[in-house]
Order: sequence, then C-alpha cells, then structure tokens
Amino acid sequence: MSDVLVVGGGIVGLLGALELTRRGRKVTILDAPVPYPPASWAGGGILSPLYAWRYSDAMNRLSVDAFSRYQQILDECVAAEIPGCNAVLHGGGLWVKTAGEDAVRAHQWAERWRVPVRAMSAGNLMPGATVGAGFLFPSLGNIRNPSLLKILRTYLQKLEVRFELAEVNQVLPSVYGGRVVATDGRQWQSDTVVISAGHAAAELLSSMKTGLPLFPAKGEMLLYRMKPDKVPAVMLTERGYMIPRQDGSVLVGSTLRKGDNTTYPTVAGRYQLERLAAGLWPELASSTPAFHWAGVRPGCKRDIPFIGPVPGTHGIFAAVGHYRNGLVSAPASAELLAQLITGEQPFIDPEPYSLSLASPPSRSSSSFFNR
Ligand SMILES: Cc1cc2nc3c(=O)[nH]c(=O)nc-3n(C[C@H](O)[C@H](O)[C@H](O)COP(=O)(O)OP(=O)(O)OC[C@H]3O[C@@H](n4cnc5c(N)ncnc54)[C@H](O)[C@@H]3O)c2cc1C
Repeated sequence: MSDVLVVGGGIVGLLGALELTRRGRKVTILDAPVPYPPASWAGGGILSPLYAWRYSDAMNRLSVDAFSRYQQILDECVAAEIPGCNAVLHGGGLWVKTAGEDAVRAHQWAERWRVPVRAMSAGNLMPGATVGAGFLFPSLGNIRNPSLLKILRTYLQKLEVRFELAEVNQVLPSVYGGRVVATDGRQWQSDTVVISAGHAAAELLSSMKTGLPLFPAKGEMLLYRMKPDKVPAVMLTERGYMIPRQDGSVLVGSTLRKGDNTTYPTVAGRYQLERLAAGLWPELASSTPAFHWAGVRPGCKRDIPFIGPVPGTHGIFAAVGHYRNGLVSAPASAELLAQLITGEQPFIDPEPYSLSLASPPSRSSSSFFNR
C-alpha cells in the first residue's frame, strides 16, 4: 500500500510526487488513460506569468524562482542518468511589450522581486520583429514541457513511484484519508489522497462541496519550424506570444475559451493564431505551421491556485486551479503541498492558497450538487 495516492499525473501531480518521495513517502500516481494530452503537455512552458506585475504577490511567490527550481530538478535528473535533459530549459529571456503606466509597474515589479530588466525595442532584440517598445527580462525563459513530462515520469519510476492507468470517478473521504474509485471498479485506500487532476478536479471535488470557483479554459497553439536562434527570447504582447525552442521551433499562442473543455483544434483557432503570428514576426506569414493543437487549462476565478487540505476531510488534499500558470508555478506549488502533507513548516504562508478561502456553495449550487 502507498502512503500517498496522487490522482492526476500532469505537472502538478508529478512534481507533488517528487517532493513527497524526497520526504520518504511512497507514492502511487493514478492517471487517466485519456486519448488527449493534459494541459501540462499542451501548454507553452513560459516560466513567468504573462505580465507578472498584474498578478498578486501570492502568485509571484509561486513563480518568481521557477527557472532555478527547474534547473535544480533537471540537474537531479542528469545525476540520476535520465536521458534527454539537456535541451529542455531555454534561457534567452522574456521580452514584454509594455509602455506608459504599465511599464512603470513592470519596472517596480522587477525591482521588488529582484529580476534583472532592460528597456529594449523588439526590433533591437530581434531583427524583423515589429511589435515596438518594451522590456527584456534576461534571466527568465521557457521550458519544453512535453520533454519535461517524459523526463519526470522516467525519474519518478526510478525513484519507485508507481503509476496506474486509471480514470478515477470518485474520491470518497473516510475517517482517515480516502477511498479512490476508478470507472473500471478498481479501488485504492490511503491515509493521504492528493487531487491534482487539472480541469477534471472540479468534478472529483464536487461531492466534497468545496465551492471552488474552477472551470475549464481551452487554449490552442501553433508550432512553426524555423532556423535556430532566429527568435532569441519569448516575445510577449497583449495579443499573444512567440516561444522559441532550442531546435528552432517557434510556438505561437494562444487562444482562450472559458468554459470549453473540448480538446480538438479548430479552424477559427488556427486563423486567429496565424494572424497573430504574422503580426508578431512577418516572416511567419509566409510559413506553414507544422503542428496545431489544443489543451484545457484548469481555470480558476482568482489568480492563484488552491493548495492544501480539503475542508471537512482528514487526509484529502488538493492542488488545483493553476489556470494559465501551472508550468511556472508547479515546482513551488508542489513544495508547499508536500510540506502541508508532512506537517513541515511551509516555505511561504499557506493561507492565501487555502481551500477554506473559497466561498461555500450557495444554497442553489448545493442543491444542484445534491441532485
Ligand atoms: C495552450 C496553453 C498554453 C499554456 N501556456 C502556459 C505557459 O506558458 N506557462 C505556464 O506556466 N502554464 C501554461 N499553461 C497552463 C498549464 O499548462 C496548466 O496550468 C498546467 O499544465 C496544469 O497542470 P495540472 O497538472 O494541474 O493539470 P493537467 O496538466 O491537465 O494534468 C491533469 C492530469 O490529471 C489526469 N486526469 C484527469 N482526470 C482524471 C481522472 N478522472 N482520473 C485520473 N486522472 C485524471 C489527466 O490525464 C492529466 O494527466 C498553458 C495551458 C494551455 C492549454
């Protein structure tokens, strides 16, 4: 029997399992054999919230050191001889189009969180880019998330974390911990259960009446195959972004449809993204995208995730609602989650992330849950 059952093997579940394993816990990850990839695969991997200065301190605390946290995790994987770790983290920085009052706030944010910053036009950074004035944050970057997921799974298997292909349809609280039931009838029991099932977590938590304001939010992306180093940094504007990978691929994203949990790419999405691509870098207007895909973000009506015990249960925890920032915030979220489970002193104040801060379900929504 495992000490901890983790429901959901996206970035939040995988890094949660890693942190718990480091603390001597035996972990089993129950992950649905869905025919489509999770958000953690579909996402862009920018290691900063988009316009970070527009977010709360609580979000910035989870994200500001993401690059070095991933560097450490990858170093650990290299030491464990996990293949493919070299071309995963991409430095080069994050360039953001900003001006006026927003630029002042960006500068104050950089000073406050000690992030190096330089004023620079897009054209000076990248010949051919036409999107105007902004700031370069040279210490930020992006991570190639599909490769990262593969590396983490291999590493966790080496650390004897068990993986079970199982679509969980119920998490039933018991006196200590909970019982996890899969759609094929298999069941698992443990003192500690973690729900980290991305946008599907809302359904699993609904019987516990947490009232968390969660929703699915579909996003689409395009990938262009270009020559390496043409795009030196992540290029972010209000309308969207370009993300360079080490092999020259350039990702352009993203669309956002709240309430949509479908996972197929659309003609409308492609049209929107191709126009965006041409506006960011005219060279893309004459290129054909090599891939087009969609993913479903675990949306949340506030700008930080919920991390901690599920109120009214003993030993059931959730790490949910990472929305647009799950890749950047997962390493810190996972550390906090593991500290709350093991009773260690958390590295940050856990209060802002507490599930008890969610408003309790209204009379009408609880009668909905009871139907
Ligand atoms: C287009 C797009 C671009 C993005 N760009 C960025 C970015 O640049 N930077 C950033 O930080 N974030 C980005 N994100 C957001 C980020 O991808 C998500 O916040 C993050 O991946 C959420 O991780 P998660 O582990 O909570 O959920 P997921 O990655 O969705 O993982 C959930 C896991 O749970 C499993 N599961 C679901 N239901 C069940 C069930 N019933 N039983 C068992 N298992 C189940 C799934 O199979 C999956 O493995 C982007 C997202 C999208 C879609």
